[in-house]
Amino acid sequence: MNLHEYQGKDILNSFGVKVQRGIVADNHKKAVDAAKQLAAETGTGWWVVKAQIHAGGRGKGGGVKLAKSLEEVESISKSIIGMMLKTPQTPPEGKKVNQVLIAEDVYYPGESEPEEYYMSVLLNRSSGRNMIMYSTEGGMDIETVAEETPHLIFTEEVDPSTGLMPFQARKIAFNLGLSGKAFKEMVRFVTALYRAYVESDSSLFEINPVLKTSDDMVLAVDAKVTLDNNALFRHKDYLDLRDLREENPIEVEANAVGLNYVDLDGNVGCMVNGAGLAMSTMDLIKQSGGEPANFLDVGGTADAERVETGFRIIMKDPNVKAILVNIFGGIVRCDRVAQGIVDAYNNLGDSIHIPIIVRLQGTNAVEAKELLDASGLDVISVVEFKEAADKVQEVLS
Ligand code: GDP
Ligand code: MN
Repeated sequence: MNLHEYQGKDILNSFGVKVQRGIVADNHKKAVDAAKQLAAETGTGWWVVKAQIHAGGRGKGGGVKLAKSLEEVESISKSIIGMMLKTPQTPPEGKKVNQVLIAEDVYYPGESEPEEYYMSVLLNRSSGRNMIMYSTEGGMDIETVAEETPHLIFTEEVDPSTGLMPFQARKIAFNLGLSGKAFKEMVRFVTALYRAYVESDSSLFEINPVLKTSDDMVLAVDAKVTLDNNALFRHKDYLDLRDLREENPIEVEANAVGLNYVDLDGNVGCMVNGAGLAMSTMDLIKQSGGEPANFLDVGGTADAERVETGFRIIMKDPNVKAILVNIFGGIVRCDRVAQGIVDAYNNLGDSIHIPIIVRLQGTNAVEAKELLDASGLDVISVVEFKEAADKVQEVLS
């Protein structure tokens, strides 16, 4: 589950990680009140107005702006709230901004220049360890840094059973070129950040930039936090942080009825039981020259009702031009699934006007094929996996 910047910062703060302070607002009046409150609490006279959407690159897209007066807070908030913000990470039409974060300005001048660093915490699946990635090149696109100056990205692997060792935190501060007070601040920052990552059961923290202020404080200016859905049962209070407005509406609907659905760009709808078979079905569609429109795992109980729900969900995507049903009957009997397809077809009759290719294999596959062939429906029933994928291409071309 992805979070907004302000929610991520709240979680970091709750574990003692220093963050740029801010208050979220969903209209320009509340934005001005937030700015006043921050001024009273922190003494700041300048603020940054930051669009809250689930995408990065907001600064470049005009979604992060400095305000030097309450009037500017008001006018900038007015223009950002409600806008369609386009960044390299949003869909081409952009994402609607529902809220802004009014944050204290932390780039104030002082004895030294503010410095921006990059830091993320994530899981290295191949080593089975957590990993802290960090760089002196903060504030910019980390993909660009990785491409052009890969030697400026460091990684520190952490054994989850020992946690982050003090020497590792010091090494990170050292590699970032820090000394004195800033060095100690960075050690404290990394230590708290790692603990927050583990205890919040997150799967990704990306803090870009981590800022060293002109008076040598170290704090998170941005926060991309992804929580591990499999651990949400341990954090009931985090459940409220989900913002459905940010998610694909078809996926939200499918998930609500217990279907594992991921929207993709192609035109071949897929209905499959089991995640592994769903992945290989997508591979085979591609091999035959097609593009899958979705990943859909209807699960072990591929009964008539679920098949019908699956069809309904797949057909909400206007790009779908053909549907491939690929179901292996292990526990579920193929003739039951075939009956489900027939029922679904009859129930949805008017709305199904695209070819459906069905491949059923396993228990009672022969009966299933007979049932489909005898149904008189416009369903193409095939036996072999590859044949099914080729058939899809044939009907589409
Ligand atoms: P992103 O563009 O979506 O990654 O959003 P960020 O939260 O990283 O903000 C983008 C940029 O805004 C940062 O890299 C900073 O350069 C700038 N910024 C953020 N906070 C402040 C601030 O307090 N003062 C000033 N002057 N600039 C800021
Ligand atoms: Mn950022």
